[in-house]
Amino acid sequence: MENPHRQPIVLTGGAPNLYDLTLPQLTALLQSWGQPAFRARQIWTHLYRRLTPSFEAMTDLPVALRERLAAETRLGVLSLSREQTADHGDTRKVLWRLPDGNVLESVLMLYPDRATVCVSTQAGCGMGCVFCATGRMGLLRNITAGEIVEQVLYFARGLRSGALAGTTRHDHLTNLVFMGMGEPFANYERWWAAVERLHDPQGFNFGARNMTVSTVGLVPGIRRLAQASLPINLAISLHAPNDALRSALMPVNKKYPIAALMDATREYIARTNRRVSFEYVLLQHQNDTPELAEELAELIDGLLCHVNLIPWNPVPGAPLQRSHRDRVRAFQNVLLRRGIACTVRVERGVAIAAACGQLAATPQPAETTTSARS
Ligand code: SAH
Ligand code: SF4
Repeated sequence: MENPHRQPIVLTGGAPNLYDLTLPQLTALLQSWGQPAFRARQIWTHLYRRLTPSFEAMTDLPVALRERLAAETRLGVLSLSREQTADHGDTRKVLWRLPDGNVLESVLMLYPDRATVCVSTQAGCGMGCVFCATGRMGLLRNITAGEIVEQVLYFARGLRSGALAGTTRHDHLTNLVFMGMGEPFANYERWWAAVERLHDPQGFNFGARNMTVSTVGLVPGIRRLAQASLPINLAISLHAPNDALRSALMPVNKKYPIAALMDATREYIARTNRRVSFEYVLLQHQNDTPELAEELAELIDGLLCHVNLIPWNPVPGAPLQRSHRDRVRAFQNVLLRRGIACTVRVERGVAIAAACGQLAATPQPAETTTSARS
């Protein structure tokens, strides 16, 4: 089928996006312009502490420098293409357009006790999970660290200014989840550069313990994260307790079957002593029987873990159904009886299809499109 989202794979060229630079790279750039050393740190503070939205607003910089920055660099590359809210403003989904025409999405979810942002790590995704709207798009391209970081900063800025308030007022983000479009471990270096950028205590200073990465189960990525320097939380999309079923739902299982996935998970837990989350999307009569719940309990028995049952968000054209509420409860009860911590994910933004990849894959009438930032 013709995919309207597919664009040629191009790297973001041209003037550098400041959010793509490390502090040493920014320092080198400014030095090459003959600027004093302290300028880089001053700009870094604008980017990640003050969250300054434009070069003009960096009023403590000389006008000539601001003009040169505006002419030769970019303060972000994402244009806001569409923004939708649900749950009385507590769920806000943004569709971004990249300079090459590809699209990304991010979701802000406000709760009484936390403000969570869910961001994309690739445009599209090459993993092909049958229940996922993003999977149907295929991989369009890897996105840069700056393109990941910029999604987060947009929401942080909006919360700070009050522009993105919902029913409860938050002035900062408390949690960051890499669960939007794409497979983070298929774009590991750029994803990790974004993690480090956001964590930088001299910059955005976001706690690693409040970040969660979700993977389809790329074993090398799990092993890498087990050795990483920052304690990021790990969520693993399991969705089935045996290879036959998992391979039917998630082609990646043929490359990294359950035994390999469990080995890597055990290594991760042993090295980090951190609890992993297993995500399990419940699909009616596919993976939601009590027998499969027993099999799942057997598989993860004794692991330091938690199971997150996810009501499936329907994807147009997918020959699947979400599990009935009673089947969800029965599945959960089996796990609880077996002593496995298990919660059902609170649904957010069903009206705006705020699940993975849903917005980008759903053509919308023109009137819901808000004006784009250039
Ligand atoms: N690629 C990573 C992270 C992005 S997907 C991964 O697969 O883990 C984030 C989560 O949303 C995954 O657990 C994924 O299985 C789930 N998901 C995908 N499509 C969904 C849908 N239509 N409804 C509910 N959850 C979905
Ligand atoms: Fe990719 Fe995750 Fe969707 Fe699977 S569920 S296709 S890995 S984004």
